[in-house]
Amino acid sequence: MFAPRSGLEALKPYSVEEIQWPIRLDANENPNDMPQAIKTKVIEKLTTLPFNRYPEMSAQSLKTTIAAGFGVTMTNVLIGNGSSEILEALCYAFGGAGRSIVYPSPSFSMYGIYAKLADSQPVPVALNVDYTLDEDKLLAMAKNVAASVILLCNPNNPTGIVLPPEQIEYIVANTKSLVVVDEAYHEFYGKSSVNLLGKYPNLAIARTFSKAYGLAAARVGYLLAGEDIAQTIGKVLLPYDVNALTLATAEIVYNMRQEFAASLAENSRERERMTAAFSAIAGVTVYPSQTNFLLVKSDNVAGMVACLSARGIGIRDFSTAPGLTNCIRIGVGTPDENTAVLEAVTA
Ligand code: PMP
Repeated sequence: MFAPRSGLEALKPYSVEEIQWPIRLDANENPNDMPQAIKTKVIEKLTTLPFNRYPEMSAQSLKTTIAAGFGVTMTNVLIGNGSSEILEALCYAFGGAGRSIVYPSPSFSMYGIYAKLADSQPVPVALNVDYTLDEDKLLAMAKNVAASVILLCNPNNPTGIVLPPEQIEYIVANTKSLVVVDEAYHEFYGKSSVNLLGKYPNLAIARTFSKAYGLAAARVGYLLAGEDIAQTIGKVLLPYDVNALTLATAEIVYNMRQEFAASLAENSRERERMTAAFSAIAGVTVYPSQTNFLLVKSDNVAGMVACLSARGIGIRDFSTAPGLTNCIRIGVGTPDENTAVLEAVTA
């Protein structure tokens, strides 16, 4: 007799609507395809790629490139099939049966799922009402459950709010748990905890190419950590987990990352425009974001969602999610897309 392993029946699959919205602001992607100068290089590179060969076993070339960017060595870097794969592997490697994984809530919804997949106990710690974090409450919970891992998302998805660097250092310095800072939206914020890596052996940083670097299609992310941590997580990753097309593309993107300056500047301008416009609507609260999306709370959230979808605009509806009552998350799109959003919600 076969049956799913215990606990799996209760696990809800990660589900996103598969609607192809004319205006897609539901997945925090870069609204612009990669700059043409990068795309040309990628296509040139792919024409010379030996498709019959497996990729480099340990993604050495991309690891070395990223390590050089941070002044660390290749042994401090792990490459994953999206940062998703790395975060999941980390939960397998440092979680496991009978252990606890602590994270603020609301945050990236996959943290709880990774914890469960690793047979660990997910322990969400509620953020304050304004979505700031009470660091002592988090630390007390981590101590109480002897957490093996603390996951912090900075800036946080879906709130857009940041944890100041001092707050992260305070947490890392006052716990024995492995603290992972998921910096998926780092490039929109600018501040990082990378500089703490040399000081605290219990710290790891996850990054992705899927957001600011506009490479969601290729699925690639990375982790920066001490050699021991990287090596341990590496045991859980499958050989050849990241394909050669993606590795080659990511290396070009990383080397040309200055090409994204214009899209980052546009994101920042548009985010401010959208924040100001939403703040001016009666019954609406918009949270201060340092990302490429806004969390918007509305007294008439159903009406807002209906107006947006009637105009073909896809957003992420969190209005019934715990801690996010009446909230939706709207990606910052191109200027025209954003104008369409404002027209829809103010019509
Ligand atoms: N972390 C956070 C906070 C995210 O929002 C996402 C994507 N939505 C990821 C990790 C995963 O990104 P990817 O697997 O594309 O690198």
